[in-house]
Amino acid sequence: MENVIIIGTGCAGLTAAIYTARANLSPLVLEGNLPGGQLTTTTEVENFPGFPEGINGPELIQRMHQQAERFGARFDFGTVEDFEQIPSPTQPIQRMKVDGKWLESRALIIASGASPRWLGLENEKALIGHGLTSCATCDGAFYRNMPVCVVGGGDSACEEALFLTRFASIVYLIHRRDVLRASKIMANRLLSNPKIYPIWNSIVIRYLPDEKGKMRGVVLRNVKTNEETELEVKCVFMAIGHEPNTAPFRGKVECDAEGYIVLKEGMRTSLPGVFAAGDVADRHYRQAITAAGMGCAAAIEAERWLAEFSH
Ligand code: NAP
Repeated sequence: MENVIIIGTGCAGLTAAIYTARANLSPLVLEGNLPGGQLTTTTEVENFPGFPEGINGPELIQRMHQQAERFGARFDFGTVEDFEQIPSPTQPIQRMKVDGKWLESRALIIASGASPRWLGLENEKALIGHGLTSCATCDGAFYRNMPVCVVGGGDSACEEALFLTRFASIVYLIHRRDVLRASKIMANRLLSNPKIYPIWNSIVIRYLPDEKGKMRGVVLRNVKTNEETELEVKCVFMAIGHEPNTAPFRGKVECDAEGYIVLKEGMRTSLPGVFAAGDVADRHYRQAITAAGMGCAAAIEAERWLAEFSH
């Protein structure tokens, strides 16, 4: 029986790991299919306090990981497939099935983050990895001197598009409105970059694979005029937001209509001893620093909750 299991190794999970490890709880931290979380798919992080020159996303995560290990956090790879809580008048037991094996803990911190959203168009699954991706840092360099497009109008879309200008011949930004959702600083950088060509009021309605199953272009529809046009691109970078990773907890831990975990007082969820932190429970801020703050708060709550039963 573990004291506390932490699901996720993004900013929230790693901060929770640092705090619970320093509280001598020897947390077990589970790394899922994107170890390090979304920051590992980004480049420069300019708004994490304490790094005036900015810091590389993967490096920031690696440092947090080292910091947690230094205080005794234990890490293991595994994806949570199922969850149940065994109620008890004294202390409920949290049980989770991880790659076919059941683990048990007294407290649980869910920091499983959110995964990229896709459009749900025909051929989408087959094209992922063949000219369709959600990670410019991972795949941008493959498209040197080729035309590419980014779909979305938020900070992620701007960041991806700006990064891609290092490689691509031209970067189209396809946005369904004519105003960016991104912060002013990112929007201004994007709009003043000569290699980026925004296509406003437009959505992708079809992918066009070539005879080898690789992306050769997309069909766009202008939502104002309904006009359809073909755009030749070798890769589509999707940046239209994220879905919370809560599948094993739905129907067991209270989630809202979109699947985000509903937080009660502090970082408490609807189940005693189960806490949540970061993007899995935050649809408003979704920043590295807010995720880290939530991870800290969840760890403190978990520590206090465990202490209640040791008296
Ligand atoms: P986001 O802010 O939710 O933006 C998603 C974008 O995708 C929006 O422009 C949205 O259009 C568009 N979209 C959503 N569904 C769509 C669909 N089905 N078809 C076409 N377009 C669709 O997500 P994000 O950019 O990933 O950012 C998430 C959070 O992380 C934000 O809080 C952001 O500030 C933060 N972030 C910050 C930085 C930074 O500070 N450097 C970098 C990355 C992310 P509408 O605008 O029309 O809704």
